[in-house]
Amino acid sequence: MNEYDSELVKSLLIDNRHQLTKEIGEADVILLNTCAVRENAYNKIYSRVGDLKYYRESRKTRVGILGCMAQNVQDNLLKNRNIDFAVGPDSYRKLPGLIGDALEGGEDETITVLSKEETYSDVQPQREDGVNAWIAIMRGCDNFCSFCVVPYTRGRERSRTIDSVVEEANKAVAQGKKQITLLGQNVNSYRSGDDRFADLMEAVAQVPGLERVRFTSPHPMDFPDDLLKVIARHDNLCKQIHLPLQAGNDEVLKRMNRGYTQAIFLEAATRIRSILPSAHISTDIIVGFPGEDPEQFEDTKKVMEAVRFDSAFIFKYSPREGTLAKRRFPDDVEAAEKTRRIVELNELQKIHTLESLEKHLGQTKKVLIEKERTPLSEEQCQGRIDQGVTVVLPQDGSISSGDEVIVKINGKTSHVLLAELT
Ligand code: SAH
Ligand code: SF4
Repeated sequence: MNEYDSELVKSLLIDNRHQLTKEIGEADVILLNTCAVRENAYNKIYSRVGDLKYYRESRKTRVGILGCMAQNVQDNLLKNRNIDFAVGPDSYRKLPGLIGDALEGGEDETITVLSKEETYSDVQPQREDGVNAWIAIMRGCDNFCSFCVVPYTRGRERSRTIDSVVEEANKAVAQGKKQITLLGQNVNSYRSGDDRFADLMEAVAQVPGLERVRFTSPHPMDFPDDLLKVIARHDNLCKQIHLPLQAGNDEVLKRMNRGYTQAIFLEAATRIRSILPSAHISTDIIVGFPGEDPEQFEDTKKVMEAVRFDSAFIFKYSPREGTLAKRRFPDDVEAAEKTRRIVELNELQKIHTLESLEKHLGQTKKVLIEKERTPLSEEQCQGRIDQGVTVVLPQDGSISSGDEVIVKINGKTSHVLLAELT
């Protein structure tokens, strides 16, 4: 979402006669688009702001913070004295004015008013080259999971109309994009008038020339059968479902305010596997939520064993400013214990990921090429299969980004499939 928001910000700035530069030494203003969802993301920004001090002091470069951190820790940030302004995710239209003030030597400023309506649906993002485009279809979240800062930094849920999303998808395809990822903090709770996420997916699937549609980040309780059936019906709607578990124990899930029990989650996973048998299911898990005892932690493992996720992102709980969990529950699982649990779950997941990759061995698959060279080799290119797994194959000099090639899968590493052209 931040990559997409940065594309919107670039567009707003270019419309106001600013220019982008890739040379940091040339910049009058440096903007950092930030995330507040976990402690690690915060720490990265504090250290980056420190690195930029040199430019601020010696060249008078202005430094601005965008995004969720600007919204969430505005006072701490400004006290830090190494930044000039902070702008929350609903206030980017004010940026050109703020930059003007900062360049004229104005006072430090923060604009972090959250909006009930802002969706930037009239702003055409300044997209990067390549086959991928992102489109934010909704913003904000009303779920208030007790660990999560998003409802406080991104505000209330609001969705764009189907027409505006389809129009943006058509424009992206006209620019040569082949694969679109629909974005939202709670993407499948999309609602515009009577339209739901299934209606939007049905409409986006019809966009001529659009090869692949993905979406993130969904909530497990917003996967009605009609949505799964729409995905099943259209070849260009990818069979890749993110189903964030967070925890497997009912008590913990209740304190997390997730709105489901272990049994309800398992039922959702089973339904997805029966309507979309080829789908890859990935998940997010938090270890060491306040009060999670070793026995409750075992329930997370049980769900992992039962669902056998194709991949998983596993995080240590970190208390976030303003959330119910931080206010109400002491962060009482020892750091070493959180580490032990994350290592254990990563080990388990490694087995399931390998199993999932092995299923593709020997099969013929369609790969949409995303990179003509891999980061490791000039002689290899890479793309993804429908289910989202990265495939690396030899670059024979004829394969271009955006091509769809038919390959035979002949190997695997820990996360990637290896293939050759058929
Ligand atoms: N909307 C998605 C989650 C988006 S946040 C959902 O409902 O599941 C991305 C992931 O960050 C979450 O799924 C969660 O696993 C992790 N996360 C969020 N807050 C966290 C916290 N306080 N500590 C650790 N991990 C957290
Ligand atoms: Fe955060 Fe996702 Fe829960 Fe919304 S649904 S509060 S984004 S974890």
